[in-house]
Amino acid sequence: MPGMRSNPVPVTVLGLGEMGRALAGALVDGGHPTTVWNRSPAKAQPLAGHGAIAAGTVEVAVAANPLIIACLLDHASVHEVLDPVVSSLRGRALVNVTTTTPNQARELADWAGRHGIDYLDGGIMAVPAMIGSPRAAILYSGAAPVFEQHRALLDRWGRSSYFGSDAGMASLYDLAMLAGMYTMFAGFMHGAAMVGSEGVPASEFAARATPFLAAMTGALAGLAATIDAADYAGEDQQSLQFSDLTKLVTASVEQGVSAEVLQPVHEMIQRQIAAGHGNEGFARIFEELRSTR
Ligand code: NDP
Repeated sequence: MPGMRSNPVPVTVLGLGEMGRALAGALVDGGHPTTVWNRSPAKAQPLAGHGAIAAGTVEVAVAANPLIIACLLDHASVHEVLDPVVSSLRGRALVNVTTTTPNQARELADWAGRHGIDYLDGGIMAVPAMIGSPRAAILYSGAAPVFEQHRALLDRWGRSSYFGSDAGMASLYDLAMLAGMYTMFAGFMHGAAMVGSEGVPASEFAARATPFLAAMTGALAGLAATIDAADYAGEDQQSLQFSDLTKLVTASVEQGVSAEVLQPVHEMIQRQIAAGHGNEGFARIFEELRSTR
């Protein structure tokens, strides 16, 4: 709508670390009147030179606009910054994209609810250089009206998705995806140590591992279908007893490489084989991991 484009929503960004600067910069570039604040004031200067308004205090920054973005370090720093200005936040919308656990996001949503603040939690699936491009995905949960009303502004950062009114859900997805990323990276480090034991540079290994791991992500949908059906016997994969990681662990030890990245997976497979599931496929280890709450 032409009216929306000519009237970008005025906004305040609290926290100008690597990520906060990228978020605020994208809003300034998008034409939003943007007030910024950072604990160490020097970090606001480049943005001020770029068209942002640097506020001297959190109080002034919050009072300036009806929409407040927080991109601080962690849950504790969000309370440290916002508790002293909670009465000024009443009636405003708060979008907190600081990484927290799901329960910390829920605690902030309860806190906001008690003080008349509309709270939307966000999880950023991107590094700062990706902000403002479609490669950045940002996950939200909490107050639906805040997401809907400010969708155009949120879309300036990347692809926005909404995961419902439970404020913890965006964080749960965020951290669940990071679990996959970090264990994949750890697996890569392990492989690099294996070939490194024979003098192969990690960069040479990365050139081989990158297309292989990318191709392997094609298996995720099939594994997911098996998990959702809870029918591991029908899984179109090598059986656990055939590929129980013994060869990987043995080769690592023989090369003088620690097997501690592989060992927990190896042990889960062994337990499933001992429980009589040796003819089923790798997705079976989901049963070792699933929540028993
Ligand atoms: P930085 O370490 O670069 O910045 C941290 C920011 O928090 C700074 O503005 C810092 O202020 C502020 N801060 C820390 N403690 C306090 C406090 N007690 N009171 C007031 N301000 C405080 O981190 P990033 O910008 O990289 O990350 C910010 C958030 O974004 C984190 O939650 C992070 O997990 C998340 N994120 C970051 C990604 C990334 O790739 N960088 C990716 C996805 C999410 P000061 O400058 O004064 O120290």
